[in-house]
Amino acid sequence: MKRLLRRRKTLIVAFIAATASFLLGVTLPINLRANQPLKPIQAQVLTVSQSQEQKPTSNINQFKQAIAHRVEFSQQALAELQGMRFQSTVPDQFQGTTIREAKLDSQHKAIALTFDDGPWPKTTTQILEILKKNNIKATFFWVGRYLQAYPDIGKQVAAAGHAIGNHTWNHQYIKYNEDGAAREIDRTSSLIEELTGIQTSMFRPPGGILNNGLAAYAQKKNYSVVMWSADSFDWRTLTESLIDNVMRQAKSGGIVLMHDGGGNRARTVKALPDIIARLRKEGYIFVTVPELLQMQEQELKRQETAKK
Ligand SMILES: [Zn+2]
Repeated sequence: MKRLLRRRKTLIVAFIAATASFLLGVTLPINLRANQPLKPIQAQVLTVSQSQEQKPTSNINQFKQAIAHRVEFSQQALAELQGMRFQSTVPDQFQGTTIREAKLDSQHKAIALTFDDGPWPKTTTQILEILKKNNIKATFFWVGRYLQAYPDIGKQVAAAGHAIGNHTWNHQYIKYNEDGAAREIDRTSSLIEELTGIQTSMFRPPGGILNNGLAAYAQKKNYSVVMWSADSFDWRTLTESLIDNVMRQAKSGGIVLMHDGGGNRARTVKALPDIIARLRKEGYIFVTVPELLQMQEQELKRQETAKK
């Protein structure tokens, strides 16, 4: 009887050991893959870009390879953010600050498209279609009274997983005292939350005006004041030159300003597929503003870990 028990015990121990080693065998490589891939790429990219400096035009393949590495790097970083995707909340360190772009490691090749002054009939939906077709998430800054007028279009944007920011209720270029600023900003955020469930921590001042009381109130309320690094001037220019404006100012970590509402945006709709195609050809991946800032935060953490 005793021997039988001992044998059974041995069998159980053997079974546990086998299971554990099987699980280790399966899970360890996955963990390693998830946590360690960024360093080797870093080394390779540096080597390639150094040699490019010595021979600027010598090797197109090396250049392509370097771009491919940067795309891969950004995609990996994005994959690590998966749990945080589709949110409209920026990381804590950016709340209460003004940002024009993210400071990303040179290995990144990521850019954020932003659209202001919607929701708007026809053009917002057309832009949504183009983004969907290209599998891109963008960031929309809404005017409260337009959201009130076109709630269904707003809901469509949010349901498609884009990030949402606050762009005041009335979109005026006047001075505000604190109460006035509070009415413009609080009312818009309340409606965004009521209609979509999204609590945004992004505010963009109309006209990019930073000194009329709105931005100050937004920062006090811990919004990140989101400006831009590339202005398409789509509200005043022809399709071809708005494409050029974006391409000329495009850079990794950049934030591109365009409009889906507030007026006739047919030119923006017409230009967008070209802008996307040309940026993609240059190797950019498209992210939302919160994702862009999360990438910057990720890097700070990585650098801190590397120092330890
Ligand atoms: Zn605007």
